Amino acid sequence: MSVAAFPGSVHVRAPGKINVYLGVGDRHEDGYHALATVFQAVSLYEDVYATDSDEFTLSVSGVEDVDSVPMDDRNLAMRAAKMLAAATGFEGGVHLELRKSVPVAGGMGGGSADAAAALVACDALWGTAVPPHRLHELAARLGADVPFALHGGTAVGTGRGDQLNPALARGRFDWVLVTSDEGLSTPAIYARLDAHRSESGALADDPPMSLEVPIPVLQALRAGDPHSLAACMFNDLEVSALLERPSLDDVIAEGLHAGALSGIVSGSGPTVAFLCETPESAQYVQSELQDAGRAALHVHGPVPGARIIA
Ligand code: ATP
Repeated sequence: MSVAAFPGSVHVRAPGKINVYLGVGDRHEDGYHALATVFQAVSLYEDVYATDSDEFTLSVSGVEDVDSVPMDDRNLAMRAAKMLAAATGFEGGVHLELRKSVPVAGGMGGGSADAAAALVACDALWGTAVPPHRLHELAARLGADVPFALHGGTAVGTGRGDQLNPALARGRFDWVLVTSDEGLSTPAIYARLDAHRSESGALADDPPMSLEVPIPVLQALRAGDPHSLAACMFNDLEVSALLERPSLDDVIAEGLHAGALSGIVSGSGPTVAFLCETPESAQYVQSELQDAGRAALHVHGPVPGARIIA
């Protein structure tokens, strides 16, 4: 039996993400779409506490719509813990306490962050010392966004979004996030995109799309230049998120009016991410949006992936 490196309890923090660029290709037979995306981890975190237990149990607090988080084996953090136990032959259990700040079904990968945090926390608590490449494999089996939540920073994701390559990003980018009371279902947003494309004939007779992140996106990140990045942010899912939730158009218009450089639906939405020139301009945009009755948060990126908090 291995000796646990962190007896008793381990606290891990993992970030939510923004898709600075998200190109979506055809749907594969396994149901997943081919993606070319750039993730940036931002300073809105999930805190996961893993405590010794004979059973696998879970508690969740934090965000307002905590009731919509599954408390059984559909919970990604619980699945992560059980998958790690099965992969390592660990025979005990764990109590996972999730303190969520990332909005549920908000397009910011909160569930994926919980899963990444649970992998890191249980590995430390149980002393299973799984090597990083093996943790990455387990993460990819849990969901396409989970490997990025492990790694954090800024990265290009291809395949289902789970094949990661770090992207150079200089300095810090300031974002204002406008969250919504009610989430959007990721599968429903992809289904809407497929329907929209087949109605408009897009992709039907085309050769397979070349799915690559445009060079200007990578150059803007490398230069740490928010103006250049604002000019080339893009999300293929935005059209379907706007069809599903037309009021997001007003949110984007308000943020731009308040002085944001650009606004984009994050992932499958409905969170809208505004890129701002400086921390001060982000504070101004945040307060303008709050005055207009919006739930607006000022965050920055890139930040590290799932980490043990001493
Ligand atoms: P996706 O990663 O699919 O783009 P998202 O970022 O929009 O999703 P999440 O908060 O990760 O949103 O949750 C999507 C769905 O996953 C939720 O509606 C919920 O049913 C389920 N889910 C499973 N585990 C969790 C978890 N730990 N926290 C939140 N939702 C979870």
